[in-house]
Amino acid sequence: MLELDQLVKQFGGFRAVDKCSFSVQQGTITGLIGPNGAGKTTLFNLIAGAFPPTAGRIRFLGEDVTDLPSNQLFHKGLVRTFQIPHEFHRLTVLENLMLVPPAQPGESLLSNWLSWGKVRAAEQAVEARAWETLKFLELTHVANVRAGNLSGGQKKLLELGRTMMTDAKLVLLDEPAAGVNRTLLRKLEEKILILNRERGYTFILIEHDMEMIEKLCDPVVCMAEGKVLISGDFQTVRSDPRVLEAYLGE
Ligand code: ADP
Repeated sequence: MLELDQLVKQFGGFRAVDKCSFSVQQGTITGLIGPNGAGKTTLFNLIAGAFPPTAGRIRFLGEDVTDLPSNQLFHKGLVRTFQIPHEFHRLTVLENLMLVPPAQPGESLLSNWLSWGKVRAAEQAVEARAWETLKFLELTHVANVRAGNLSGGQKKLLELGRTMMTDAKLVLLDEPAAGVNRTLLRKLEEKILILNRERGYTFILIEHDMEMIEKLCDPVVCMAEGKVLISGDFQTVRSDPRVLEAYLGE
């Protein structure tokens, strides 16, 4: 589904990502681990089209997408979860979901005048999808709560919900476990697994919580100093002496 070929990202004289190559198979949950400064976030930025690589190629679903910006990747189904933007904190959970789908007919003033009925029908479809998403995530009770008032874990579920409002195929999750209490963490893991096993989402996740990595991810890719150190199943990666050494040097 995704192929990274010798990716390099250079900031001045410093290589944050240094000839990274690996591929992601459709239907998997790939865990991206490594000590702080390993280059994981920079690699995510490259995959998501936040900035182009200095060298190397990225292919998504057989197409070269190396130089495509994030909005075009989004339309192809490559979606990165982001923290809820600051200004969205004042909107309700339901509104946060309804704002996601791209190119809603109501966005154009002209189409509003010309085909009001069509706009209304599209809005109703978006609202129905938003409620379905809330039900799936067990968040219906907070539908009308402002997003800024949610707990850390509920915010992560909402971030996941925002990807469900798109036609996402590959979802990049950036530290989903950070700041989430144990109970909601179990729920978040359960939802990610259902989305993967039953709804066909492929995930890559950066995570420091090794319990979550062990439960969800196969394969696991470990990066250090901008390079892929090793990839394989969790046990293989965890027991590799190079991985231990990389973390000790942190
Ligand atoms: P990780 O996510 O694994 O902790 P990062 O990708 O955030 O690692 O960072 C990798 C290295 O690249 C770090 O040394 C960081 O300081 C450096 N880096 C990241 N972004 C920039 C930038 N915009 N300019 C300069 N250096 C950067």
